[in-house]
Parts: sequence; structure tokens; C-alpha cells
Amino acid sequence: MKSFDYLAPGTLDEALRALAARPAAKILAGGTDLLVQLKNGRHEPPLVVDVKRIPDLTALRMDDAGLTLGAAVPCIRIARDADVRKHYPSLVELASLIGGTAIQGRASIGGNLCNASPSADSVPLLIALSAVARIAGPGGARELPVEAFCIAPGRNALAPGEFLVSLFVPRPGAGFRAHYLRFIPRNEMDIAVAGVGASATVTGGRITAARLALASVAPTPLFVREVTEVLVGQTPSAAIIQRAAELAQAAARPITDMRAPAEYRRHLCGVLTKRALTAVLPEIQQ
Ligand SMILES: Cc1cc2nc3c(=O)[nH]c(=O)nc-3n(C[C@H](O)[C@H](O)[C@H](O)COP(=O)(O)OP(=O)(O)OC[C@H]3O[C@@H](n4cnc5c(N)ncnc54)[C@H](O)[C@@H]3O)c2cc1C
Repeated sequence: MKSFDYLAPGTLDEALRALAARPAAKILAGGTDLLVQLKNGRHEPPLVVDVKRIPDLTALRMDDAGLTLGAAVPCIRIARDADVRKHYPSLVELASLIGGTAIQGRASIGGNLCNASPSADSVPLLIALSAVARIAGPGGARELPVEAFCIAPGRNALAPGEFLVSLFVPRPGAGFRAHYLRFIPRNEMDIAVAGVGASATVTGGRITAARLALASVAPTPLFVREVTEVLVGQTPSAAIIQRAAELAQAAARPITDMRAPAEYRRHLCGVLTKRALTAVLPEIQQ
């Protein structure tokens, strides 16, 4: 591993100044991706900026509008937080699924998103939850919907000098449910062959909102807007879930690699979409 300088700023401004001075610097949250990348030479930054001493990046708070999840909050804190457990059970499931216990003690959802892996488990669920990325940069603060954050494998939409401060997840209304599930050959140590995050709100027996996103079947996590269009306004039914599964399969752009052939991934998109929607849509009519 090439040597680098290390800085642990206590404020957003200090971090911004460090990134402005050395644009090739890398941010360190839990380090579960970054340390591997430093060791194997994928990144050779002159400076590593540890953001875990900045209060905005370790904040975890809920108000009437929703949840603010600091970009460096580790999964274990998310899974144990009383507000998250009460209002966002799908986030608890997600935080308990990334890696194993040791990884969850370090790994953040912010790091999972910024790493921009097509297989990142958190991103489809964040999209389903309508999460927004809150970004700090030399030009000031800005917000970006999570579905626009990953732009290519390993590349995100952050401009030079910018970093992710937090994720904002709107407060779920009545009748809202969300769920993420993935297919992996082995527990805890593997990368999803395919993953699906889904959410739906059912009011008075009708679907009033729905979002679905896929992992591991395209160069970036994929928001399938067509599923929203086909579900909203409908009564939950096996037929409408089948239609959504077909749309998810059609949207997928999988590759064949050592983990699975493209056709198997496309097949999984259909299976997992049906299961995820069945989990978020109560009282499905056959
Ligand atoms: C054994 C093992 C098992 C794993 N299992 C899973 C799994 O089941 N599912 C899964 O999706 N992933 C898994 N991972 C990958 C990894 O743990 C996750 O992606 C994790 O969430 C990354 O978070 P982190 O805080 O460790 O990020 P870091 O490693 O600190 O950072 C990741 C990347 O994002 C950048 N970054 C971090 N924070 C910011 C920020 N605030 N602003 C801008 N850039 C930032 C870093 O510079 C780096 O490039 C696993 C890894 C290991 C080693």
C-alpha cells in the first residue's frame, strides 16, 4: 500500500478546505471498501480524510419530515436506533444484511452509496424510500435524489471537492411498506447476483405510490420508473405484480460474469420483484 497523509477534521469547513487543497484525496467512513481499495492499489490518494469526527456525518435523527442519516453512521447504529426500528423496519433489515456483525460495526450506508458499486445493497432500498443525498461542496450545499447519484460502476455524481454529508429519508405515511431482498449464493460474504428494493403505499385498497429499483443487473443501481406507472391507481393483484415483474426484467441490462449468466440475472429480477412487491402489497387479490 502506498503511504498517504491522514486527516480527521472536526467540521464540514475543515474537510472542504482539505479536499480543495488536495482534490485527489479520498474520504474515509467505515473503510470496509476503501481499505481494500488502498491495499490493492485501486486508489492511491495523497490524503485520506476521515469524516467520522464531523457531527453532521455521524448524526442520526428523526423529525416530522423524516430521517436524517449521517453519511458515516455505521449499520449497527442504524439497526439499533429506536426511531429507525419503529418507522423504517426495512432499513433495519438492510443494515443487518450488509456483511456480517464485524462489517456492520464499521460499514456505513453513505459509504455503500458513494462506492457506487452496481451490487451495493443499500441503493435499491434508498431509491424505494425516495431518499435524497445531501452534499457539501466548494459551491455550497446541494441535494440529489439517490437514483441520480451513481453514474457508472465505481463512479458517483459528486464533483471534485464535494462529499456526501447525509441521506434524508422522508417519513413514511400510513399504508407505506418497503422491502429489499437479494439473491446471493452464500450468506454474509457475498455480492448480490441480483437485488430488488420496493416500496408501496396502499390507501383504501388502492396503490397510491410505488417505487422499485434493481441491483447487480446494470452498470448502476436501476430505478424502474415504469413499475410506478403500472402500479399506481391499481388494486393490489397477482396480475399487476406479474406485469411489474415483466417490466423489471425488461429494464435490466445484466452482464454475464463469474457469478451468474445474464439470463439467470434477468430471471432473478422477475422472481425477486414478485417477492418484494408481495411483501409490500397487503391483501393481494388472486
Ligand atoms: C467482508 C465484507 C462483506 C461485505 N458485504 C457487503 C454486503 O453484503 N453488501 C454490500 O452492499 N456491501 C458489502 N460490503 C462492502 C462494504 O462493506 C459496503 O459497501 C459498506 O457499506 C461501505 O461503507 P464504509 O463506511 O465502509 O465505506 P468506506 O470504505 O469508508 O468508503 C467507500 C467509498 O466511498 C467513499 N466515501 C465514503 N464516505 C463518503 C462520503 N461521505 N462522501 C464521499 N465519498 C465517500 C470512499 O472514499 C470510498 O471510495 C462488504 C465488504 C466486506 C469487506
